[in-house]
Amino acid sequence: MIYPRVALIGLGLIASSMAHAMRAQGLAGEIVGYAKSPETRAVARELFCDRVCASAAEAVKDADLVVLAVPVGAMSEIAAEIGPHLKPGATVTDVGSVKRAVVDAVAPHMPDGVHFVPGHPLAGTEYSGPRSGFASLFQNRWWLLTPLPDTDATAIALLRGLLEGMGANVDEMDVEHHDLVLAVVSHVPHAIAYTMVGVADHMRRVSQSEVIKYSASGFRDFTRIAASDPVMWRDVFLTNKDAVLDILGRFAEELFVLQRAIRMGDGEHLHAYFTRTRAIRRGIIEAGQDTAAPDFGRAAPSAKEG
Ligand code: NAP
Repeated sequence: MIYPRVALIGLGLIASSMAHAMRAQGLAGEIVGYAKSPETRAVARELFCDRVCASAAEAVKDADLVVLAVPVGAMSEIAAEIGPHLKPGATVTDVGSVKRAVVDAVAPHMPDGVHFVPGHPLAGTEYSGPRSGFASLFQNRWWLLTPLPDTDATAIALLRGLLEGMGANVDEMDVEHHDLVLAVVSHVPHAIAYTMVGVADHMRRVSQSEVIKYSASGFRDFTRIAASDPVMWRDVFLTNKDAVLDILGRFAEELFVLQRAIRMGDGEHLHAYFTRTRAIRRGIIEAGQDTAAPDFGRAAPSAKEG
């Protein structure tokens, strides 16, 4: 056991997966939870929490580790509420997809003697809520920590132990660098998927039934990404604005070059470009971050991807 008492604030996909994984590996003594709605709290009590509280302040009482697993936009309000109730020596971490905004929202509310170690698991599915979690979500996935320069090394090491115990590979990076990297590998790809699905939605000449019937091609993967939680993704774009706009600008420039090559019939350019992008896909498979099986290894369109 690493932490005698863990408090999960927010009980959706990430928190419920953590609870299942901690339980499976015996990493936490007691798992206490809090979420906004009574419905979610009831499901969590039934499925993965030892105890569920009626407020965040009550849930963090005497907790050795507190995990903030709410949408990025809700972090500040929660941090302000729990700050005065945290146990001296406790560690607080979060799982938010953006780090600068979370650090700015949470750090001012952390009392002296409490260790705040911001984090982000690079694992998820398009499903959300307390029923969507599963113990293997973090298996062989990266979990990035962005500790501030003066963070206690022992607190970081203990948290690392928990995350590795859940199967994750842990890396540390600077807050700003995290937000730029995530804009490239996650946030802008989501923006593109949302846009492509929006384009199909707006095309009156392509009926809704055709979009569904023929979506066995590339479009299906866009729809899976575009089915992600609207609250979470609204907050990601509102809070990682600068990095997302920087990468979207670069994307637009590349798209114009590609558009011109298509217009000019420049097959040589297209072939060289697609050869380079194919090598990136091979690199991802070699790094164990996806399977080489056709169709991204999914047996059926509804299967989950970690
Ligand atoms: P989720 O399944 O939608 O769950 C969010 C949880 O937060 C719900 O239990 C919700 O409670 C609770 N919540 C929302 N506002 C709250 C508030 N003001 N006070 C208390 N509880 C509140 O979301 P998730 O996918 O687990 O995401 C949680 C965090 O992880 C987000 O910051 C997200 O950026 C990050 N993340 C997500 C993924 C992913 O792929 N999903 C991956 C990595 C990181 P109710 O159910 O009662 O509304």
